[in-house]
Amino acid sequence: MKKYLLALDQGTTSSRAILFTSSGEPVAVSQKEFRQIFPREGWVEHNAEEIWSTQIDVAKDAIEKAGIEADEIYGIGITNQRETTVVWERSTGKPICNAIVWQCRRTSEYCDTLRRDGLTEPIRRKTGLIIDPYFSGTKLRWILENLPGARSRAEAGELCFGTIDSWLIWNLTGGRVHATDYSNASRTMMFNINTLRWDDELLSLLGVPKRMLPEVRESSGNFGYTEKSLFGAEIPVAGVAGDQQAALFGQCCYSEGSVKNTYGTGGFLLMNTGERPVFSKNGLVTTIAWSVDGRVNYALEGSVFICGAAVQWLRDGMGLIASAPETESVARSVPDSGGVYFVPAFVGLGAPYWDPYARGAVFGITRGTTRAHLIRAVLDSMAFQTADVIGIMQKDSGIYIPALNVDGGASGNDLLLEIQADLLGRRIIRPSCVETTAMGAAFLAGLATGAVDSKEDIAAHRRIAAEFEPRADDAERRVRIDGWHRAIRGTVAFSEHPSN
Ligand code: ADP
Repeated sequence: MKKYLLALDQGTTSSRAILFTSSGEPVAVSQKEFRQIFPREGWVEHNAEEIWSTQIDVAKDAIEKAGIEADEIYGIGITNQRETTVVWERSTGKPICNAIVWQCRRTSEYCDTLRRDGLTEPIRRKTGLIIDPYFSGTKLRWILENLPGARSRAEAGELCFGTIDSWLIWNLTGGRVHATDYSNASRTMMFNINTLRWDDELLSLLGVPKRMLPEVRESSGNFGYTEKSLFGAEIPVAGVAGDQQAALFGQCCYSEGSVKNTYGTGGFLLMNTGERPVFSKNGLVTTIAWSVDGRVNYALEGSVFICGAAVQWLRDGMGLIASAPETESVARSVPDSGGVYFVPAFVGLGAPYWDPYARGAVFGITRGTTRAHLIRAVLDSMAFQTADVIGIMQKDSGIYIPALNVDGGASGNDLLLEIQADLLGRRIIRPSCVETTAMGAAFLAGLATGAVDSKEDIAAHRRIAAEFEPRADDAERRVRIDGWHRAIRGTVAFSEHPSN
């Protein structure tokens, strides 16, 4: 009798496995960290074999902890750190070098060349992406250029490329399946999100032989069965999506205009734009959310560089709080920030301002300003930045956003969500299970294996922990947002931009 769904959540710092019931209740969790490798300033690598070994260990451990048999599992859903690039030998399954992690900046100069060659617009129109070392394509090119013999071996069909999902599928199926899903393919800068095919022009630009690429499949469907020796039963790998897209699915954001924000170290916003790609005029990325039942859903994606990281700075840099949750009680001791605005431009300003030279600032300090005001201003800044991104998502898409679904570590802060509701003038929804990434992967597998009937069925079982309604009126909202935008202008004016 099958009852469970197993999510493999392969993240940047750890591999996790969560076993869910078919209605989405977590039953067991296991997690293992692995090494971060920094060979040079700005370079980040992972050992792909370590990723696989930690991932399979936690999967077995979660099953053992739950005390269930592998044949009680309907299927496995994979969700993963995106863009990270692995190349391995087809005959042995051995990686030819370390995986190049999404954070790695080693291809910055090559990306500058692409921009200088006027490729920003053509690449955006084909892939939905901005040219950046972040995405897989230039990382793969780097491997093919720099590892002796790599390109000729790839041309001879001896090497496979994959993002982390492909690498896990390959290993889970004992090297029988070389595949990825649409959501991960859309992060490679080699996949045309309009034609839904690998793009021959981009492949030739990057010098990537097509035969090393994985087959692109639906996010929910049969990717193959696990090798019997791994779990003692052949479990179908039945769901695959990149982490942010899986979170959007786990938040039940199935309809056009539904949005989720993950308040973590940074903030990650995704908006479902339905069955058409929306190309942003304000620097948002267009991505494939998933493909289910033969239909591709697109999303707009925007990120806030510094979100919970500003709270970490209050704790570790300033020593103003002992723990992150303390921000809530301290900030509640004052009715508002007392006119203080905090701009956390620690690493520049992202969407919609795009000033890499900007640095953080605090405005509006008076003799009466206290620690509580500053802490409250930090929470405000997390909400202001989110509101800015949501504003451009609405503007770029012309789609009304009725509410915001939230998850991530800082979404446990009720005051932050109250402030967010006021600044957006929209309802904020926090689900009971904030493991939305793993849940999304599990449900993608659930749909393909019959563990759940439909997306409607998943949404009907969704449990909400809390909802926050806006209480501020329009005039009050406008005054606060005007103040924030003045603070942004002040920050930009101070920034050491070459043109200033
Ligand atoms: P990530 O996955 O990006 O590492 P998490 O989703 O685990 O992050 O969230 C951790 C971040 O959220 C940290 O930056 C921390 O400062 C912040 N955070 C956690 N709890 C709270 C809270 N109650 N209030 C405000 N910020 C919080």
